[in-house]
Amino acid sequence: MKDNMHPESLIMSHGYQSALSEGAVKLPLFLTSTFVFQNAEEGKAFFEIAYGLRKKEDNEQLGLIYSRINNPNLEVLENRLCLWDKADDCAVFESGMSAISTVLLEFLKPGDMLLYSSPTYGGTDHFIHHFLNTIGVDCVCFTANDSKEDIINRINETQKADKLSFIYLETPANPTNDLIDIEMCRKIANHFGTETKKVIVGVDNTYMGPLWCSPLAHGADIVMYSATKYIGGHSDLIAGAVLGNAENIKRVKTLRTFLGNMASPHTCWLLLRSLETLKIRMEQQARNAADVAKFLSAQPKVKKVLYLGNIRDNHASYALFKRQYSSPGAMISFEVEGGEKEAFKFLNNLKLIKLAVSLGSTESLVQHPATMTHAGVDPQTKKEMGISESLVRLSAGVENSEDLIWDINQALEAAYKVS
Ligand SMILES: *Cc1c(COP(=O)(O)O)cnc(C)c1O
Repeated sequence: MKDNMHPESLIMSHGYQSALSEGAVKLPLFLTSTFVFQNAEEGKAFFEIAYGLRKKEDNEQLGLIYSRINNPNLEVLENRLCLWDKADDCAVFESGMSAISTVLLEFLKPGDMLLYSSPTYGGTDHFIHHFLNTIGVDCVCFTANDSKEDIINRINETQKADKLSFIYLETPANPTNDLIDIEMCRKIANHFGTETKKVIVGVDNTYMGPLWCSPLAHGADIVMYSATKYIGGHSDLIAGAVLGNAENIKRVKTLRTFLGNMASPHTCWLLLRSLETLKIRMEQQARNAADVAKFLSAQPKVKKVLYLGNIRDNHASYALFKRQYSSPGAMISFEVEGGEKEAFKFLNNLKLIKLAVSLGSTESLVQHPATMTHAGVDPQTKKEMGISESLVRLSAGVENSEDLIWDINQALEAAYKVS
């Protein structure tokens, strides 16, 4: 086999041997809770590895034990996800939130400090503010406007800089598309880390991954996904994934074994199917987003279009955009003229595009961040984040862009029609 094949070429077969499944071309769905050991010695050996009682011999694989620990659908999916991010290992979860919360629980202990970028996904924000701080984790935030020096000063001012353990970031930010520099976060982690206590950098790459951004290549230690979004891509499942080096993922998988929040075989099977079309879906979605953004930018009733493809080359974040991403992606936020009333009229008049939260799916979705995904954010913070009452967020699907533009145009006309 050619050794530098692209993920999209390997994704149909990687990690699967037909001979182990009656010659089936596709990995069957393994609906079983437990696996038969050939003999007691084998069972003992598998548990020694699973519980870390001894190191794996060269070429020794962890055998199948019990579906909370491992299952063929889970394992093949994890191997295939590693292709896109060029990661050593991957752990798949029953939701994006369980992926994120398990990582934060594994790498942060009471007394530690978390540095995180704001805004983050609402669920993550809630977990930080209403759970982590109740177990004694100090949480310090920064935004896309803060420089490396600003952030280092802020950490030093806490007088607990030696407690910094984890830097969590989400880029581009939802729903504003603000960019956070992953390499800068790596430098901050190295600044505060020591030989014995490394500071881990974790990136929620849901918005741009795994196709258009590879955080590990920019210095991150851990990548997290809501696989509900692009990776699943059909609005028919909830799942999450975490990728990184063998040592870090082993820790994450060990905690997952005892929290029991792995994805089910059926969810993994659906995700394996989704992965085969991931690249063509995402590319079509990005093309549609470019067409829609161009149309929106020319509409008199549209005040502002937040789309990475609109960053001009004289803008401060242009170099970062070019360095960190290979595409502007398929997420657009835009402000219509007026306030909530006009935004709602526009949303209520769409005929093809669905009014629903979530993103990255085959169908285009719109929602109103101020009253939906970001309803829980306090008014002042919303204002600082730029989440106004007239802001609408759109996730472009794989439809024909002429039809999407037709729909947006007729909904804009209906929203501003004088009756
Ligand atoms: C949806 C989402 C999550 C949460 O994922 P679930 O699969 O819904 O649990 C986390 N981060 C981002 C950026 C998301 O869009």
